[in-house]
Amino acid sequence: MNGDKTGRINGCRADLSEGCILCYQGAKMVLFVTGVCGRNCWYCPLSETRRGREVVYANDRLVKSPDDIIAEAEMMSALGTGVTGGEPFLVLDEVVSYCRLLKEHFGPEHHIHLYTGIAPTRAQLEPLRGLVDEVRLHPPQEIWAGILASPYAASVEVARELGFSIGIEVPSLPGIEALAAILPALDFLNINELEWSETNAQAMRERHLDLEDNLHNAVGGAAAWAAPLLDDPKVHFCSSDFKDSVQLRERLKRISKNTARPFDEITEDGTIIYGVLKLEDGKLPPALQETIYEIEVSGDQVEMAWWMLAEMREKLPGRKYVVERYPNGGIILEVTPL
Ligand code: SF4
Repeated sequence: MNGDKTGRINGCRADLSEGCILCYQGAKMVLFVTGVCGRNCWYCPLSETRRGREVVYANDRLVKSPDDIIAEAEMMSALGTGVTGGEPFLVLDEVVSYCRLLKEHFGPEHHIHLYTGIAPTRAQLEPLRGLVDEVRLHPPQEIWAGILASPYAASVEVARELGFSIGIEVPSLPGIEALAAILPALDFLNINELEWSETNAQAMRERHLDLEDNLHNAVGGAAAWAAPLLDDPKVHFCSSDFKDSVQLRERLKRISKNTARPFDEITEDGTIIYGVLKLEDGKLPPALQETIYEIEVSGDQVEMAWWMLAEMREKLPGRKYVVERYPNGGIILEVTPL
């Protein structure tokens, strides 16, 4: 990890919560347990395919059975899981059973953190003891100024008594400095840079908010609202840039390592590169019949190392190109004709 003299690592402090450290390594699976939520935050970033729907996703994989959760976690060699939604407490029984499954399969050291928009009571938190390690509360913006008198302050006390690591995780919005009042009671306060999404764009415009630049989803001003809190060692500011670059790249690398074929080249960004030959007559050219290198034939398409395709291009009739994509059949980023 690269840190500067302030102890920050790519905008985050060195004393991150356990959940954040694993996230930094791209080692946390995101388990989305429901798109249903009793709140209606104007900045809610959930996509239309998830919002309000009773769907479960492990990263981007639609979960049809609990086995899919284990398969996804294994594919990325996950060291932990972040449970999110929607509102996880609306499907508490399922959350308990998924967390138990993960802890039983990967061992008690598989670190689980859980986000919630409600202020959970003792009765709601108790079933999660021994299954969830870290609870992250998301109190609504309207109550930040009176946070100590809110039910969230009571949840913090109960969570601590029950042995959870307890923190608050909210987007950076005007008025966030009021959360300084509850900092002494917390293990951490995570501030996410406010992000623009397709579903919250209209609400952003109504509030005269705009993108910081044309490269990221960060909303202009979000970093400045959080600034008064950032000197406290319990506070971590998670930038949109960090999520896009470090977190995603590290997760892709883990998936590539587990799923790349022998001839796929894994890039520094965790994407894979390989060469494709489209057969003209469906027959494998002699040069490929004799090759000692691994190839994969599927219908009229032959996939191989990109450098091998480049070296043999004169001997291989048909359309040839190099593909860069996310691992495990993920989205194609670039196709370069050879
Ligand atoms: S609590 Fe979370 S999921 Fe629910 S509306 Fe707010 S941002 Fe969206």
